[in-house]
Amino acid sequence: MHFTDTVYRNPYWPTWPLLQITQGCTHNSCKFCTMYRNVDFCLQPAEWIEEDLQELSQSDPHAKTIQLLSANPLTLSYEKLVPILEMINHYLPEMEYIYAATRVTDISNKTVEQLKHLKELGLREISLGVESGDDWTLERVNKGYHAIDIIEQCAKLKEAGIDFWMSFLNGVAGKEHSMEHAINSAKIFSQCEPMLVGTGGLVLFPGTPLLDEAERGEFTPLSEKEMLVELKTFVENLTCDCTFITHHTVSGKNLTGPDFIRRKDSIVAALDHEIQHGNLDMMAAIAEE
Ligand code: SF4
Repeated sequence: MHFTDTVYRNPYWPTWPLLQITQGCTHNSCKFCTMYRNVDFCLQPAEWIEEDLQELSQSDPHAKTIQLLSANPLTLSYEKLVPILEMINHYLPEMEYIYAATRVTDISNKTVEQLKHLKELGLREISLGVESGDDWTLERVNKGYHAIDIIEQCAKLKEAGIDFWMSFLNGVAGKEHSMEHAINSAKIFSQCEPMLVGTGGLVLFPGTPLLDEAERGEFTPLSEKEMLVELKTFVENLTCDCTFITHHTVSGKNLTGPDFIRRKDSIVAALDHEIQHGNLDMMAAIAEE
């Protein structure tokens, strides 16, 4: 198999088989990310894609799922994606679910009719690393789009019947804009009605502009308690029913699962309890390890 750069696989999808169809990230300038910093974006050579599929047809001939790589493979035009999806179906004829993580902006070069055809070819589920629905925050971390783009492109996915996930990046607005990030993200996410909302906490990785800004005093990271307050505010304002994933385990409870609306009050109560009584010093120490 030809894997040329960072292999990020969504841990909630079947983690094999994987198929790399692009290299790097077209945007490559979110202020908190170094994943593809040293990789120039390009389309994976067509012969490599075919060789990988030939290999998978030998090793996994009954594969029903596949994850496309790399950072934002759906940036490829409809005209480029169709032959790739057709080739997947040719070599893996039992294919049912083609998954991909991608950027919101990658949907904009496709019509609803084209998206419907990609779904017919197996593209069933997309994970969007949205991170925020708040325009100030999106600009602050250089995501390269605004809330209106999120709404417009998600509406197209909805109309095409392609399921999608949206991620909320807890802490990415810093202290300066934490509550606006939480409330406006919940508002935009609720409007888009994704099948799943995932939340993760900001980590200031070495080499990121956001860490440099933090060291210069221009960005103020949230404390563990403030992270939980922000997450609780986001959850309180989220009104769409969905599967909800968080990597926070609070008071020994795993808050991840389906039926968000039915569980919402208990998630808020668990977060509130953790804010009031949790051992947040210990959590901060673990986070710094
Ligand atoms: S779009 Fe994703 S992979 Fe690309 S720079 Fe931003 S966070 Fe990193």
